[in-house]
Formats: sequence, structure tokens, C-alpha cells
Amino acid sequence: ELTHERFIAWLRLYGERLQEKRLELSELDQAIGDGDHGINMARGLLEVVRKLDASTPADIGATCQLVAMSLLAKVGGASGPLYSTAFLKMAQVWKGKKRLLPAELAQGFREATEGMKMRGKAQLGDKTMIDVWEPVTRQMEQQANCSWAEVRRQAEDALSRTKELEAKRGRASYLGARSVGHLDPGAASSYHLFDALCQVME
Ligand code: ADP
Ligand code: MG
Ligand code: MG
Repeated sequence: ELTHERFIAWLRLYGERLQEKRLELSELDQAIGDGDHGINMARGLLEVVRKLDASTPADIGATCQLVAMSLLAKVGGASGPLYSTAFLKMAQVWKGKKRLLPAELAQGFREATEGMKMRGKAQLGDKTMIDVWEPVTRQMEQQANCSWAEVRRQAEDALSRTKELEAKRGRASYLGARSVGHLDPGAASSYHLFDALCQVME
């Protein structure tokens, strides 16, 4: 069960993680994009943490709304509106919730994934963050009581599979076949999001 307190702890941990990994994530983006992904995301989560320091939202839905607005305002690029869409969808599904059962968690991630796919017109295999969100969500849907270790492994495997894919969406798609052989930066930041969730839940 994911309580609102743990949900906030997850976001704070993700914020710390992005600060640590910002150069690494931007280096991934340097290889197949414009080199700003880590900087963009770290700036966005800094704003999230700043807002959470100022006041605690009433419930998980309201917290997701705060995240969506912060990311939309601060991240920019392709990933800002996409992550913002994800948290907006989760805000709708988890409106008024103070705790989430595993099935509810999966339902929120499903809505988030579908929202991002629609917004970015990306499918599984296009070498984007969808390539992490989709398999992780699917695993949570199929095994409501899967262990956090399994979720982590799924996220890791999903991220590493992006290396061999050719990008079909976003800046990396301009490289065509030359995008093969590099991890997708958005998939990497999404891996860290789920890995941080596993860490607070274990
Ligand atoms: P930008 O490319 O505009 O500089 P970022 O560097 O912050 O934006 O984010 C790049 C990441 O965004 C990519 O690695 C990819 O995962 C994700 N992305 C880009 N376009 C799309 C899309 N259409 N659908 C889903 N994800 C996308
Ligand atoms: Mg970029
Ligand atoms: Mg950019």
C-alpha cells in the first residue's frame, strides 16, 4: 500500500536522484539529442520539492496536480509536457486518495502511459520513455502483488532494451539508424522514477 506520505517521499527521493544523475542523463541526451534532458528534469523536480516544502497537498491526487504544473512550467522540451501529462492523468485517477492499493497504482500508471502515448504519438518500441512506462505498467497490471524487486528488474530490462532500438519520435528520430546503440534519456529518467518508487516501498 502506498500512502500519501510515502508518495511524497518517493517524489523527494526522485528529486535527489535526478540531482545526482543530471549530468549522466544529459550525456545520454548529448549522444542522440541536444544534451539537456538531465538538466531539464533536475530543474523540474527542484521546483516540485520547493513546492512540497512550502505546503503539503490534501491528497495524492492534489500532489500529482502540483507535480504536473511544476513540470509543465520548469522542464520544457519534449519531456516536460509528456511527464506533465502523466501526472495530470494520475491526478485524475487518484483524486481524493490518501492511499493506493496495488491495483489502483497500476490503474494510475496505465492512464498516465496512455495519456503520454496519445500526447506524443509514440508506441512501444519507438525508443522513448514509453518503452519503460509500458512494460512496468503491464507488469503491475498482470501481477497486482508483484514484488518491488520484480518491478525494479522490469524497469532495468526495459531501459537496457532501448539501446538497440531506432528512435521514431523526438529529436533522436532525426538520427535514424544512428540512434541505435544508445540508451534513450527519457527512458533512463523514467527508470529512475520507478526505481525510486521501489526504494521507498521496500
Ligand atoms: P528535448 O528532446 O526537447 O530536448 P528532453 O531532452 O527533455 O527534450 O527529452 C527527451 C526525451 O523525451 C527522449 O529521450 C524521449 O524519451 C522523450 N520523448 C521525446 N519525444 C517523445 C514522444 N513523442 N513521445 C514520448 N516520449 C518522447
Ligand atoms: Mg534534450
Ligand atoms: Mg531540448
